[in-house]
Amino acid sequence: MLDFSLSDEHRLLEQSIREWGARDVAPYIRDNDRKHHFDRERILGGMARLGLLGISVPQEYGGAGMDYIALGIASEELEYLDTSLRVIMSVHAGLNCLTLLAWGTEAQKQKYLVPQAQGTKIAGYGLTEPAAGSDARGIQTTAIKKGDRYVLNGEKMWISLADVADHVLVFAWTDQAKKKDRDPSGMSAFIVERGFPGFSSGTLTQKWGILAGNTGFLKLDEVDVPAENLVGREGEGFKIAMFALDQGRFTVAAGATGLIRACRDASVTYAKQRKTFGVEIGSHQLVKEMIARMESDYQASRLLWLRSGWLKNAGRRNTRETSLAKWFATTASERAAGDAVEIHGANGYSDEYPVGRFYRNCKGAVIYEGTREIHTIMQADYLLGYREDRPSRCELPAVERAQ
Ligand SMILES: Cc1cc2nc3c(=O)[nH]c(=O)nc-3n(C[C@H](O)[C@H](O)[C@H](O)COP(=O)(O)OP(=O)(O)OC[C@H]3O[C@@H](n4cnc5c(N)ncnc54)[C@H](O)[C@@H]3O)c2cc1C
Repeated sequence: MLDFSLSDEHRLLEQSIREWGARDVAPYIRDNDRKHHFDRERILGGMARLGLLGISVPQEYGGAGMDYIALGIASEELEYLDTSLRVIMSVHAGLNCLTLLAWGTEAQKQKYLVPQAQGTKIAGYGLTEPAAGSDARGIQTTAIKKGDRYVLNGEKMWISLADVADHVLVFAWTDQAKKKDRDPSGMSAFIVERGFPGFSSGTLTQKWGILAGNTGFLKLDEVDVPAENLVGREGEGFKIAMFALDQGRFTVAAGATGLIRACRDASVTYAKQRKTFGVEIGSHQLVKEMIARMESDYQASRLLWLRSGWLKNAGRRNTRETSLAKWFATTASERAAGDAVEIHGANGYSDEYPVGRFYRNCKGAVIYEGTREIHTIMQADYLLGYREDRPSRCELPAVERAQ
């Protein structure tokens, strides 16, 4: 039966994040954004205490054992505060933890997933390279097997939490002939620890959005990775990278939905305070139009991520629906943020109001985890019959809807 209501557990989660956010995030976020400061203790500590870092990881692996709708709610609430918080959910909880849950060995789950879900270790996702983003087959990182180890060489770029993560899921070519032919069945996935000799990272300082977050590069210089850190089988790396994106994109979609709501709420408040021509600007029809579109975009985005979360709960493939949710919500968030700045007039062009930060932050999500163009192509290809999803060897486990 179709059920649009949130359960008691969902509402409690929403309430807890709102209370924590109002107390521990909102008063500091503008300064952290201005100072390009990743507030590790306050943000990661708070998220760990709320159980968010392992929200949809089963309790037997140290998580909160909540359903995927809960993951969406958390993403929406976090991005309502600031995009940098939702990015943590996307890479740590979505791209990394859920991938280890589905594809990891029992030993990998015990060693890496448990501390990640408990929030004592932070995890990232390393696919993009200086010369390869949308074109993931164009990565150059290699992993050469030597006895019971793989030796990794390469560079990853635009990696969220690059200077923060303790473990990174790294993608590299294990079959060099297939690399030359761009055959993705030559790619593999590895868990790389920050402490492995030859691993180094740095922060990108020229970024102009998500400034309270951390984004950077990783260098892999003859990094010895034990064979037991291979995730899945050799040659399954590309499939694993795409599987991970199904989870990450879901959090991006829900997060962008939260950003639209933040734009809407800020715009409604401002439209009732600011007067022009003797009336509140909210009474001008063109301002009403912008606010009404924020509402329709918010509601439509929310329904799309809820459908995707419902499919995940049921253990059903959702690549197509999640892509649509991500594409729609992120492009709508760009529209909402642009209009929110417009409604604020010159004040929107200043850091005195949050909408300028929303405007800077929204663009990243249109680019990462599949650009607007990549999702456009995906959706057309599904319709045209050029693309179909085949069953995967490992799937995200179905869960009971939270009560
Ligand atoms: C803030 C931020 C955080 C990020 N975090 C991570 C992370 O944690 N881990 C990670 O691995 N990556 C991360 N990324 C990288 C991100 O996933 C890539 O930037 C994204 O996939 C796009 O790749 P690109 O930047 O190389 O652009 P390109 O692939 O070079 O694309 C450039 C332009 O060409 C268009 N284009 C490319 N191919 C096609 C095509 N076939 N048809 C039509 N148009 C096309 C694109 O849509 C885009 O408009 C992050 C990026 C940002 C901005």
